Amino acid sequence: MSTFAALESEVRSYCRGWPVMFDTAVGSRMTDVDGKTYLDFFAGAGALNYGHNNPALKGALIDYLQRDGVTHALDMHTVAKREFLETFSELVLKPRKLDYKVQFPGPTGTTAVEAALKLARKVTGKEAMINFTNAFHGMTLGSLSVTGNSMKRGGAGIPLVHATPMPYDNYFDGQVPDFLWFEKVLEDAGSSLNEPAAVIVETVQGEGGINPARAEWLRGLAELCRRHDILLIVDDVQMGCGRTGPFFSFEIAGIQPDIVCLSKSISGYGSPMGLTLVKPELDVWSPGEHNGTFRGYNPAFVTATAALREYWADERLEKSTLAKGDTVEASLTELVESLPGADLQVKGRGLARGLGFGKAELADRAAAAAFERGLLLETSGPDSEVAKIMPALTISDDELTDGLDIFADAVRSVV
Ligand SMILES: *Cc1c(COP(=O)(O)O)cnc(C)c1O
Repeated sequence: MSTFAALESEVRSYCRGWPVMFDTAVGSRMTDVDGKTYLDFFAGAGALNYGHNNPALKGALIDYLQRDGVTHALDMHTVAKREFLETFSELVLKPRKLDYKVQFPGPTGTTAVEAALKLARKVTGKEAMINFTNAFHGMTLGSLSVTGNSMKRGGAGIPLVHATPMPYDNYFDGQVPDFLWFEKVLEDAGSSLNEPAAVIVETVQGEGGINPARAEWLRGLAELCRRHDILLIVDDVQMGCGRTGPFFSFEIAGIQPDIVCLSKSISGYGSPMGLTLVKPELDVWSPGEHNGTFRGYNPAFVTATAALREYWADERLEKSTLAKGDTVEASLTELVESLPGADLQVKGRGLARGLGFGKAELADRAAAAAFERGLLLETSGPDSEVAKIMPALTISDDELTDGLDIFADAVRSVV
């Protein structure tokens, strides 16, 4: 461990909560160098929806490497990229009647968001953005400007401008009609709101504390954007790729965002990959106007294609995710009911779930107690007050119940 303290920057974070050295990982289990195995309710912060070293994906990757398939290609045409685009179109876009051009903006979530913001500004000629309270969109300057968390914003070192925050769904605990303020300032010529190019929203806020927006709220937002000629960007970096059940988290609302950002689980294997999906009429980029060296990491295309074929050719994964999500919800509800007065709150949708703690510091203590018991999970929210339950979607029912039992035990030990 001293290697990391001596040589790696102080910015390292996850390793501080889990001070062991991991070596191997399969499915929903990670093993450290001492041979201790941990059940994974973290899933790479949503980058491992299909688990660690998923055999269907690993086989495709090994075959590709074995035949000397191109690894790096900027945005040259490759067989791996063609197969990904065709498979994505056939299995994801067409069945959902979605029409998007696919931009490869760079290999991370924040690059997908940066491309979306840049394109929205180019298309509309406007610079202002609307974001939401407790949003998280990434750590580069554009993404940070539409991110809520004050600690993360503070790292920017320059003013973060051109974004106006609006209340997310349920920000006032249901006491205020949806979009009361947003609609008023849009329509009032005296409000001083700069005309927005776009709204950027998560359907369930992951880093913001597992806050789900209701389908009718999302529909209301889409409708408001349509009436006021504002582009709608859905950041599906964490909640996409089946995390909430359907492939895209916005499907429950029946909306069609103008731009969609994907990353985290799109490669399926934990390899870096990002996508910005753009309605064809908005694809006004000039060649090379938005660029990047790593927009063609072909091993990621190979595993992404394998993941789509394995899990998205039918509805089995979607159904099992919803069923597992119900299991988690039932277990958390039972836990909360068994601890009256502990001030706990069950949150989330699909397999993006959380337990909110009225006493914020207890969430980190519960995560630490879970770690001692061999379970990995992280916290989120502005005060790290939510213990986040995000297992791989492929977790077995036994592993899921085992993990939930460990979690319940960990929570009881701290409240
Ligand atoms: C993780 C995340 C990002 C940023 O992705 P990076 O790959 O860490 O840059 C952006 N938006 C959301 C919703 C995320 O969860």
